[in-house]
Amino acid sequence: MDTKHGLGVGCDALALAAPGVRGLSPYQPGKPVEELERELGLHDIVKLASNENPLGPSPLGLAAAREALAEVARYPDGSGFELRAALSRKLGIAPETITLGNGSNDVLELVARAFVSPADEVVYAEHAFIVYPLVTQAIGARGVCVPARDFGHDLDAMRAAIGPATRLVFLANPNNPTGTWVGAVALRRFLESLPDHVIAVVDEAYVEYVETDAYASCLPWVAALPRLVVARTFSKAYGLAGLRVGYAVSHPDVADLMNRVRQPFNVTVPALAAARAALDDEAHLARTREVNRAGMAQLEAGLRALGLDWIPSIGNFVTVGFPRPGAEIYQALLREGVIVRPVAGYGLPSHLRVTVGTEAENARFLEALSRVL
Ligand SMILES: *Cc1c(COP(=O)(O)O)cnc(C)c1O
Repeated sequence: MDTKHGLGVGCDALALAAPGVRGLSPYQPGKPVEELERELGLHDIVKLASNENPLGPSPLGLAAAREALAEVARYPDGSGFELRAALSRKLGIAPETITLGNGSNDVLELVARAFVSPADEVVYAEHAFIVYPLVTQAIGARGVCVPARDFGHDLDAMRAAIGPATRLVFLANPNNPTGTWVGAVALRRFLESLPDHVIAVVDEAYVEYVETDAYASCLPWVAALPRLVVARTFSKAYGLAGLRVGYAVSHPDVADLMNRVRQPFNVTVPALAAARAALDDEAHLARTREVNRAGMAQLEAGLRALGLDWIPSIGNFVTVGFPRPGAEIYQALLREGVIVRPVAGYGLPSHLRVTVGTEAENARFLEALSRVL
């Protein structure tokens, strides 16, 4: 009997669950603004919790999405022809190398489902994006979590962790939530050293923000490295997180396999239109980078003034260390109307991740933080 839900019968779902799913904890998203409004009756809330673009969506993307709404009685183009053609032109790659996803989370899952069986191992780093262990466990495969070095990916240790059972390695460059990155030379050497039975996914969700010289996107390497998959997204710099569009670039044979497990209409009509238009919105992207550069400097100066340490980041977020448990600071900031992101689930219990906001949002955060401390 299920009294809690007012149902007449119980349901022993846990006993029926697939073994990998049974032990899974759901992804913990940043707290939505509306939820905090409901809980504390607060208004004028600042959310710096999900690495969203503080400038909002690309205006060109938004206009295209609005226009596309008139067409939503029809299914989307399942091949995403227009968007793939636009990406192909923009990136100088063949359309057959592009697989579209319902956000890049979708793409990460597609790779895992296409290539990983329960008997296989998947290698990723400590403090790496939590979706990697999630998709691994959901399949029932074994995750191999390699200890970080200075909060970042230790490529030598990751290479050493790759064995006969390894089918997939996930790398985020830059990584979320640490903002750390691996340089072009070391990454290329790592990828070239991989045995032929390993697919490598390099997740470049924040690539548009990177302005560091020694960093290079590995997108141009797909031509020479047939088992490399590069994942990108419209959720961050393009400001389209709510529409869910991401993509993978890979050898066409790899793309073909991902397409076999892809839902046929995984990207919606407005999402396809918005991403297509946002791709050409250079002005929005330039402003986004500018605001991020200034905001990062503002946050770093403020944190320094408060005597705090942070992990140097090349993304649109920074992970800050505290002398007290991060959860306490997080709760106190919520009461000030500021939402940041706890990262205890990433093995960082005395850190919090803060997204770079507008100048006013960053100031609100720093003021709230100084009161809380
Ligand atoms: C935000 C993020 C993504 C993007 O997720 P979407 O599904 O595209 O919204 C992917 N990888 C990392 C490391 C991220 O931080």
